[in-house]
Amino acid sequence: MIAFPSLNAAADLVEKLERERMLSRGEFKSLLAGRTLPGLTARLFERARAARRAVYGDAVYLRGLIEFTNYCRKDCFYCGIRKSNARAERYRLSREQILACCAQGRALGFRTFVLQGGEDPYFNDRRLADIIGAVRAAHPDCALTLSLGERSRASYQTLFDAGADRYLLRHESAAPGHYRSLHPAGHSLRNRMRCLSDLRDIGYQVGCGFMVGSPGQTDDCLIDDLFFIKDLQPQMVGIGPFIPHKDTPFAGEQPGGAPLTVFLLGILRLMDPALLLPATTALGTIHPQGREAGLRAGANVLMPNLSPVAVRKKYMLYDDKICTGDEAAECRACLERRVNAVGLAVVVSRGDCAGFLRAAPASACSPASEPAPIPGPVVRRQDQFFSVPIPAFNPIPELSPAFEPIPAFVPAPISESPLTAKITELPHA
Ligand code: SAH
Repeated sequence: MIAFPSLNAAADLVEKLERERMLSRGEFKSLLAGRTLPGLTARLFERARAARRAVYGDAVYLRGLIEFTNYCRKDCFYCGIRKSNARAERYRLSREQILACCAQGRALGFRTFVLQGGEDPYFNDRRLADIIGAVRAAHPDCALTLSLGERSRASYQTLFDAGADRYLLRHESAAPGHYRSLHPAGHSLRNRMRCLSDLRDIGYQVGCGFMVGSPGQTDDCLIDDLFFIKDLQPQMVGIGPFIPHKDTPFAGEQPGGAPLTVFLLGILRLMDPALLLPATTALGTIHPQGREAGLRAGANVLMPNLSPVAVRKKYMLYDDKICTGDEAAECRACLERRVNAVGLAVVVSRGDCAGFLRAAPASACSPASEPAPIPGPVVRRQDQFFSVPIPAFNPIPELSPAFEPIPAFVPAPISESPLTAKITELPHA
C-alpha cells in the first residue's frame, strides 16, 4: 500500500528523477499518487521544460501526418478502424495522392512526413518501397516516418533500405494482462515487442507509446510502461488519452484525462531529455488547450494532419477527432499560433532525435541544412544516453542561419471539439 506523499516528498522524487533519470517502482507509485498535490505539477513541468531546453532550445518540430489507408486486418477493441467495424468507410490513397500530400507539406514548411495506416495487406513491401523511394527522391531533405503496425523483420529491413528513417509503433501496454484486455486473441504483446526490437536493431529512430486511461489501466500498468520505455530507449514516445469510439466494444468506456497525460509527459521528459515527445491530436481532442498543456509539460513535437480533407473523417480512430475539416495550411497556421502562445517556436527542420546517428548511408540523412550531429564516436543513440550525461550541445535552430524561414500563413480560427465542453481546468505550470 502506497502512502500518499507530502508535497515535499513528491518534489524530492521529481528532483531525483531529474538527477537519476529513473525511479524505483515504489517511488513512481508515490509520485503518481501525489499527482494532484497543489504545486507538484508546476514543479515537474518546470524541470521538464528545463530538460527539454537544454537539448532542443525552444524548438518545436512538426510532422506531417498522412493517413493513407484505413483498411486494417487487426481488431483492437479501442480503435475505430478495427476490421470488425463495418461502419468504417474504407479508403486508400494512391501513390500520386501521397506524393501530392508530401509536396503540399513541404511547401508549408514540413520536413518530416509520417505515413500512417491500418495493417493493410494491399500495401506490400513492393508497393511501399516504391512509394518510399518516390518520396525520398522528391524530398531528399525530408525525413520519412512509417507507422504501419506489425510486420516481419525482413519487411522492416526492406522499407529501411528503401529510405524510411523512423518507425512509430506504440506498444499500447507493457502489462501483459492489460494488453490482452485491449486486444482480441491472436494479437500478441510479445510480437509487438519483437517488432520494436527489430526496428531498433535495423537502425530506425523508433517510437513506442501508449494510451492514457485506457479501460482497465492502473498506475501499475503505467509504471510497467515507464520501465519498458527505459529498457527500449526509444527516440520517440507517443502518448495520448484514450477516447472511446462509438462503433467499438469500448464505446461506453470513460475517456482518459488530459491532466494525467501531461503529468506523464513531464515524467518522460525527465527520464530522457532527448526524447521526441508529441503533444498528440488526442490530447487536443480531449481538451481545447491540451496540446499547449503538453508543450508546457515538456513535449516538443506536433503532428498535424496532411491527409486530403476528403478522407480525414474516415480515419476516425476515436470520436470527435479534431482538425478533420481543416486544410493543411489552416492547421499549420493554427499550430504555429498555439506554439508561440506558450513561448516556443515552430522550426523548419527534420527534427531528428538529438544524438541519433544513422548507421546507414549518411548522405540520405544529413542534409547540409541540419545542425551538426553531436561530435563523438559513431554509436547508436541508446548507447549515448541514460548512462552518460547529455553532452553540451545546443542545436537551437533559430540561432542557426542554416535554417530556412517559416513561410507565412493566413490565420484561421481555432476550431474546438464538442468533447471539450465537458473538460475542466488543466493544471498550470
Ligand atoms: N496500425 C498502426 C497505426 C495505429 S493508429 C499501428 O498499429 O501502429 C495509431 C495509434 O492511435 C494507436 O497506436 C493507438 O495507440 C491510437 N489509438 C487508437 N484508437 C484510439 C482511441 N480510441 N483513443 C485514443 N487513441 C487511439
